[in-house]
Amino acid sequence: MNPDVEKLWELQTVLSALGDREKQLTNKPESFAAVDREWQSVNAEMEKLQQQIEQHSRERRRVDGELSDQQELLKKYQGQLMLVKNQQQYAAAWKEIDATRKQVKELEDSTLKSMADVDGLQKQNDDLAAGSVELKSRWDAEHEAWQHSLGDLRKEVGQLQARAAKIEASLPERLSREFHRIFKQRQGVAIARVVADSCNGCRTRVRPAVLQQLKRGDLVHCEGCSRILYLETPPS
Ligand SMILES: [Zn+2]
Repeated sequence: MNPDVEKLWELQTVLSALGDREKQLTNKPESFAAVDREWQSVNAEMEKLQQQIEQHSRERRRVDGELSDQQELLKKYQGQLMLVKNQQQYAAAWKEIDATRKQVKELEDSTLKSMADVDGLQKQNDDLAAGSVELKSRWDAEHEAWQHSLGDLRKEVGQLQARAAKIEASLPERLSREFHRIFKQRQGVAIARVVADSCNGCRTRVRPAVLQQLKRGDLVHCEGCSRILYLETPPS
């Protein structure tokens, strides 16, 4: 058995595990993603309610301003009523007062309606918040578990990187370069096992002469895919 090929085989195993772990690092686990989707949707709903409440209070400020203008106007007309000199002026002043009172009444009604609407929206919001206490604690727990598992995963990634570096350091530089070239070209499989006298990477049959070379410990490439062939030592 070629000891360098043994090392390359181990290196490939380590790099493949490293690739898996690195992919896991970027993936939200489905257990968290599911509760996160639920939580985000409740949040979006609460945000929408808050926006509606904010819109109502803007409208309310506008109505309040108009209401105090109309009330001022009403006072002014009522004052004028004291100063009228004839029936005609009296009737005219009353007409203004009536119209303004009607306006005031409409604005007051609109304020009342808006207050009732805000109460309803606030209640919906409070109900959502109260109803999502359990959801929030599930979200917290899943998030915590995910972050915790990331900590373990990062530790594992560090260990795998150290192991890969150690193996690489023990390899001849030329061989290491060759390995990485094939590794990149052949979807992360630079070393292919020989299974039933065939290359496990491309299924090309390994000729008996090549098999002999392998058994002697030569470094041999597959004639089909150019991967380095790895003949496992039979268990003794
Ligand atoms: Zn092959």
